[in-house]
Amino acid sequence: MVAKVKVATAWLDCCAGCHMSFLDLDEALIGLADAIEITASPITDIKEFSPVDVGIIEGAIGNTHDEEVAKELRANCKILMVWGDCACFGGICTMRNLFSKEEVFRRYYLETESTKDGKVPSSEDLPQLLEQVKPVNQVVKVDCYVPGCPPSSKAIHYALTELLEGRIPVLPSEMMRFD
Ligand code: SF4
Repeated sequence: MVAKVKVATAWLDCCAGCHMSFLDLDEALIGLADAIEITASPITDIKEFSPVDVGIIEGAIGNTHDEEVAKELRANCKILMVWGDCACFGGICTMRNLFSKEEVFRRYYLETESTKDGKVPSSEDLPQLLEQVKPVNQVVKVDCYVPGCPPSSKAIHYALTELLEGRIPVLPSEMMRFD
């Protein structure tokens, strides 16, 4: 029996929509399940990484925890693929880069119309917000990109299939938009 390709995934500063697009593969997931084994992932709820063939990141790098997860997954995978505009370019998460951290905290925790007696949380146990949201490749080396917000299931399937065939996927332009 051919060994399955081990895959670990993580979501960082994001909305989870890219993983939802993966799950939208529906019955094609059954075919993929014969070829890949998902280890650590929000899908399996396993959080500790072990060595895998392919690491996949959805989401941008917005805080110190995101940085740690990206570095840990990179250290544990042979090929790192990123899904979605947030991971590829920073995406919608970079809207906060227009403001200082203090402005973001003030608006979020103190000034929203529904907030009463708000307080900015402060604890050494909390991840620290970075000054700027960054795409994943500003923190670790990325081997392949699947852009889109989210990338379509078709694009994700194409990228995974190319990897299984031993090729680094380069998405054709018609797969660069959601349809
Ligand atoms: S790229 Fe779009 S769908 Fe994916 S995490 Fe970012 S906002 Fe969500």
